[in-house]
Parts: sequence; C-alpha cells; structure tokens
Amino acid sequence: MAVVRWKSPEYPARALARRIGRSLVEVGLSLHRCEQHDPMYRLGGVCLQSVEAQPGKNPEGIVVTWTTHDVLLLDEKRWASYFVMHQVMNATLGTILKALGYDAQPHGSGGAWIIAIDQDGASERQSP
Ligand SMILES: [Zn+2]
Repeated sequence: MAVVRWKSPEYPARALARRIGRSLVEVGLSLHRCEQHDPMYRLGGVCLQSVEAQPGKNPEGIVVTWTTHDVLLLDEKRWASYFVMHQVMNATLGTILKALGYDAQPHGSGGAWIIAIDQDGASERQSP
C-alpha cells in the first residue's frame, strides 16, 4: 500500500481524514497513534492512512482499519483472539462508516476500508 504523509493543511486527504477521525471519535472509538515511537502506539484503535491512487487497484483516498492493543499480538496464547477481533472490528468499522454516510469500500485482503477522494475533496454520500 502506498501510504503518503499529510502534505499540507489544504491537502484534500488531510481534510477528509480529519472528518472521518472526528466522526469515529464521536461514536466513541479511539484513533490509533500509528507512529511506532509514540508511547500510545501499543493501545490500538482506528488507523487512518492516506493512499495515492493506483490504477486498477485503488483510488486516492483514506484507508480505515482497526489495530488491536499490542497485548493481544504479543501473547502467542491469544493470537486467535487477536485475529478474530481484528476481523470483527474491521467488519464493524465498515458498518459504522456506512451508517455515518461515508462511501466505504473494501480495500485489500485484511478487512480494511477505503474512502475515495473525489475531485472536490469530498467523498461522503452526505456530510456526517
Ligand atoms: Zn495505526
């Protein structure tokens, strides 16, 4: 997955990611601190990553996926829980995103969702 950094405050992906993040926090979910050096990284949560368009694969947009707490991943006796919870939470994320009015489409094989950026920088069916 080609992940791009937030380029500028005016970058459409940044604005869309902020809207998605705000919507999910309002639901009660927490956002993942994706930088591995961040002390809160281990806690898990919703990951938001911008991706560039890849012809035939995906549009430019925001990929939304769930990351579990590290405690599940690091305890091999709980790996089954880790994988099941990852699938359940990703499926639930898709349901939540659609209920909030986002046009979330499956992305990749790991259960992630992508919300495309259209020419106007908006991608919701309606503004949540
Ligand atoms: Zn993350």
